[in-house]
Parts: sequence; C-alpha cells; structure tokens
Amino acid sequence: MGQSYNVAVIGAGTAGLVTARELQREGHRVTVFEKANKVGGTWLYDSLVESDLLGLDPNREIVHSSLYKSLRTNLPRQVMSFLDYPFVKRESGDTRPFPGHEEVLRFLQDFARDFGLMELIRFGHEVIRVELVDEVSHEWVVESRTRETESRWESKEEVFEAVVICNGKNTEPKVAEFPGRDTWPGLQMHSHNYRTPEQFENKIVVLIGNGPSATDILREISPLAKQVHLAFRGSDIKLINLKNYDNAWPHSPIECAHEDGKVVFQDGSIVEADVIIHCTGYKFHLPFLKSNGIVTVDDNRVGPLYKHIFPPSLAPWLSFVGLNYRALVFRVIELQAIWVAKVLSGKVKLPTQEAMAASVEEFYEQMEKAGWPKYHTHSLQNDESEYASWLAAQSDIRPPKSWEEITFFSFVKGIFGHGENFRDTWDVDKWIQEIESSD
Ligand code: FAD
Repeated sequence: MGQSYNVAVIGAGTAGLVTARELQREGHRVTVFEKANKVGGTWLYDSLVESDLLGLDPNREIVHSSLYKSLRTNLPRQVMSFLDYPFVKRESGDTRPFPGHEEVLRFLQDFARDFGLMELIRFGHEVIRVELVDEVSHEWVVESRTRETESRWESKEEVFEAVVICNGKNTEPKVAEFPGRDTWPGLQMHSHNYRTPEQFENKIVVLIGNGPSATDILREISPLAKQVHLAFRGSDIKLINLKNYDNAWPHSPIECAHEDGKVVFQDGSIVEADVIIHCTGYKFHLPFLKSNGIVTVDDNRVGPLYKHIFPPSLAPWLSFVGLNYRALVFRVIELQAIWVAKVLSGKVKLPTQEAMAASVEEFYEQMEKAGWPKYHTHSLQNDESEYASWLAAQSDIRPPKSWEEITFFSFVKGIFGHGENFRDTWDVDKWIQEIESSD
C-alpha cells in the first residue's frame, strides 16, 4: 500500500465517480462533493431550463444537465464501458447499441452502488471555494454550501490534502458572437436549454453549429418547423446531410442580425427568422477555484496543465479529470483517474515541476505551429489513441490493441457512412467485433 491522503473530489458525474473509485482502490480517504441530489451529472436529465436561455446572465440559477428529452448516445455502449465494468445490455433495460440517456444514468447509478461510492458522496453540497492555504503541507480549504431553506444557504469549510476537480464541461454555454445579437427581437437559446421540439412548430429557425447537438435538434424540429437554416463554419465537423430535408438549408456563419428580425449570413443570404438556436458548445467554468492565478481559463484553455491533468506547480495536490472532448470520454476519464490515484499514492512518479512545465510549453508551441486554436487545447481529435496509450502506460495498463482503431473519429466516420439514422442502421456490434477479433 502506498501513501494515503484525504482527498476531495468535486462532482459525482462520470469523472467524479470513476475518480472516487480509483482513489478508494489506492487507499485514499475520499469525500465527493455533489451539488445535485443524485449521481450522474450530465446524464441526470432535467426538464427545467434556465431563466436566461442563452446563459449570459452570471446570476442565473444554473441547470447542470444539457440533455434533451429524446437524447440517445452518439457513441455505442461498448465504448462507454469501464475496463472491469462493461456497460452491458440488461433484459429489463434499453438494449439498443446507442441507448437513451436513462440507460446511461442507470449504468452510472449501478456503478456507484456496486463500488460502494454512495457513502462517500455529500449530496446537495455545492463547492463555492477551493483554495490552497498552505503550500508546504499542501492544505486545501474546500468551502461548500447546502440549501437550508429556499433563500438561506449554510456554508462550511473543510481541509483536504488533495483536490480532484471533476465538475464537468457541458454546462456553461459558449454563444456565437455577431453584430445585432443582443437587439435581435426573436427568441434565442443555447442548445443547453433545448428539451423538446413543440415550441418550434411553424417557426423559421436558424440553427448555429454542425455538431451532434445541431444534427439531433435539426432532425427533431424539422418535421414541425416551417423552415430550418443551418449556419456553420466550413471547418466544423460536418455530420449533417441536408439532402433528406425539404425544409432545411445550409448557410455560412451569421454576418449580423437586425431589429426587424432579419438574419444575414456571410454568404449574402438573408432570412426573416423567429428563433436562433446556438448549438455552439460549452466553456470550462471554474468559479470556485482560487489559485492565485496559477490555473486560469483563457480562451477555453485550462492551464497550465501537464497532460490535461496536473498544474505543474501544484501537482499532484490539485488535478482535473474529464476536461477532454472529441474523444471516447469514458475511456479517457478512467485512464486519467487511475493515473491520478496512483500518482497520489506514490506508486507512479511525476517528472519534476520544471520538466512538466516544459512539456506544457512544448505542447502549446506545437499547437501554435500547427495553427490549432487555443480553444481546442483539450480536444483530443488529433491524438486520442496516442494520449490514451500514454496514460495507460503510466499506470502499467495494457489496453486491447483494438483501442488504436476504435476512437472518437472512427465513430464520426461511421456516422457519415451510415447517415442520419446511424443509431439504428449501423451494425456497430459487428463492426466492433470484427476489429476486436483481428487483435
Ligand atoms: P458531468 O457529467 O457534467 O458531471 C459533473 C458533476 O459535477 C455534476 O454532477 C455536477 O452537478 C457536479 N458539480 C459541478 N460543479 C459543482 C460544484 N461547484 N460543487 C459540487 N458539484 C458540482 N459522452 C459519451 O461518452 N457518449 C455520448 O453519447 C455523449 N453524449 C453527450 C450528449 C450531450 C448533449 C452532452 C452535453 C454530452 C455528451 N457526452 C457524451 C459527454 C459527457 O459530457 C460525458 O459523457 C460525461 O457525462 C462527462 O462527465 P463529467 O463527470 O466530466 O461531467
């Protein structure tokens, strides 16, 4: 048994649960702070939407989950499994390869129960401050608050030796900027606040974006809406084939919007729309972290972080699990959590602080040379299998060879190949079995 520490984990979504399990396996004492009353994070569907549908008001009451009611996974259950805990089909459950969100929640609830994690979680505890109080003994204050009555909160400070931040990345909307946005008279919302299609009946809708949320929302609203206009950058991932729609048209990004309701696109086309839905992704948001400027969020880069996890000068006492996207996130999260737990217990050594800082700098320089924008720092779209193999090697795990071939981007290609209804038309079980049997 290695060193054992008193560790706070913030969040009981996928990342927090897996991190808690790994920390416990390594013999650490774990307290998980979760502001909701249940586990699941993103997968805990909430029919409520926020008072400010674009999410611009910093004082709005936050709704954590961004799921829409009909959401089915865009990745098959096999790659939302954990190494020793597969996301199996249950007879009484949703046995589809791309199940509905309720099935993922059930899987995470079972995971929490089967690994005895429920006892570690303080539900209804929102963390409002994480601050390093003593560098030498690496003491962190974690201040959390609980709601006593509708208007009264009770707060409490506690001290931990290490903190792992797992607060999620799909809650704070990133909104498209264009002149006239704030005075345009129609309804604007971010996909974070989209739940069901009824309110778009007979409406002319502009959808900004071209990723999975835009695709799903287009499919769901187009049978009801009068017209749907898609505005997206040429370089965005294109998942949408508009040939199947007789009331949907592609456009370049929005140039500007006018007070008379007109929306002008960069290609010169103009529509008089009722609604604009921003399917434009999310921003990292760490309002509780007081690190004296050591860790910042700049243009959606949380940094400096060694391998997306450890700030070099605070390692291993502060870490992040689950920042990456455009990846098979369950898989990446598990490998990150295992590494963090083993680094804390001293079984795996980190490089020196200087070497970690140099590695981060080198990574940023490589991004710059490649013309890769800063806001994509935590996207793994170019190096998912390399990163997963690196993490696995650190913890002495040998993942199946098929992991090199089965990546987020191999699924994006599969989706292209199988079109709109890929969830039902693609025999993804067979595809995965063929790759696995050629290992
Ligand atoms: P979350 O699930 O967001 O969990 C974070 C937790 O932290 C929450 O429980 C929250 O309440 C808690 N928290 C936050 N702040 C605080 C605080 N201050 N104090 C206490 N608690 C706090 N991934 C897939 O693998 N397959 C898919 O098909 C897929 N589809 C998706 C569809 C949509 C629409 C979205 C938005 C995401 C999808 N994802 C999918 C990605 C998804 O983000 C991950 O699957 C996963 O849920 C991320 O887990 P997480 O623990 O990092 O974050």
